[in-house]
Amino acid sequence: MTVIRGATTIAEDTPDEIRAAVKELLEQIESRNALKRDEVVSIVFSSTSDIHSFYPAKAAREAGFESCSLFSAQEPDIEGGLKFCIRVMLFVEKNETPRHVYLRGARVLRKDVAQTFCVAIDGPAGSGKSTIAKLLARDYNILYLDTGAMYRACALACLRAGADVSDEAKVCDVLRSTSPDVVYRDGVQHTMLGGEDVSDAIRAPEVSMAASTVSKHISVRMKMVEKQREIASKMSCVLDGRDIGTFVLPDADFKFFLTAAPEVRAKRRADELAAKGYEVDLDALLKEIVARDEQDAAREIAPLKKADDAVLVDTSSMTIEEVLKTIKSKIQEKI
Ligand code: C5P
Repeated sequence: MTVIRGATTIAEDTPDEIRAAVKELLEQIESRNALKRDEVVSIVFSSTSDIHSFYPAKAAREAGFESCSLFSAQEPDIEGGLKFCIRVMLFVEKNETPRHVYLRGARVLRKDVAQTFCVAIDGPAGSGKSTIAKLLARDYNILYLDTGAMYRACALACLRAGADVSDEAKVCDVLRSTSPDVVYRDGVQHTMLGGEDVSDAIRAPEVSMAASTVSKHISVRMKMVEKQREIASKMSCVLDGRDIGTFVLPDADFKFFLTAAPEVRAKRRADELAAKGYEVDLDALLKEIVARDEQDAAREIAPLKKADDAVLVDTSSMTIEEVLKTIKSKIQEKI
């Protein structure tokens, strides 16, 4: 049996705030500990005495924690104590080191475990960003956010709606009715559109160039960047994209810019697509990748660009293991 601790704060004492805060806290605990629902034996909540509009345990029940025992208690009113705070203790059937989760205002309670860090990995298509980001996230046991997937989901929504991706107003109309989101299950990112998991559909070749065009629009970018910053503000993570080190997280603790010769990148993408069952024409893919990089690098807002303080890694003739080792040793140097 393992005990996982966590805490969060709410802005005001309303049932909706409590529901949202409890859901977020439990989901974070689940994803960071790769927990399955049936491994949770019981959950005990305590909340500060300024919270009385709703039981956190009821919020947990509503969030789908139905088969474990739940209990809420109220804490004494301690002078100088954190306000509007919900604390939690999960008893789980698991024997791994627990990853405690302190969110929002509650981060101050446990700076030792709440200390977060972010790794930004930028670079052109096929430079190896996502492969390396996933491995880093696995090795450091932190979250991986594939920001390209979010722009791809925007593009997919437009393609499905028959909207012209270069028309910002039309794109905004589509995104008003169905905005992309990311959720994590067992620590793995799933890209959602409406209620649909589109993680595979966004990899279709026709989505790539459309994603690049959609991502030029400032309103689209700001919407996506806001979500990316929100995720990164709560936990340690690796983000990959084009503008992470320059725009999304200019204060990221570690920044890398991966690159590789266009032919190498096209070949990698071709192999990836072939493995997913798509027919690929290598020359056409090379042309598309070069055109996409040009468009990404030439756009006005947050273009594809190496941040001045990012470490450049040319992966053209490196194996995945070599790239990973290089990046980890740079991180170690700075820690
Ligand atoms: O990385 P991926 O190929 O999935 O990204 C698809 C497109 O999304 C890119 O070509 C780029 O135009 C856009 N993108 C972006 N900013 C990011 C990530 C991706 O503009 N941070």
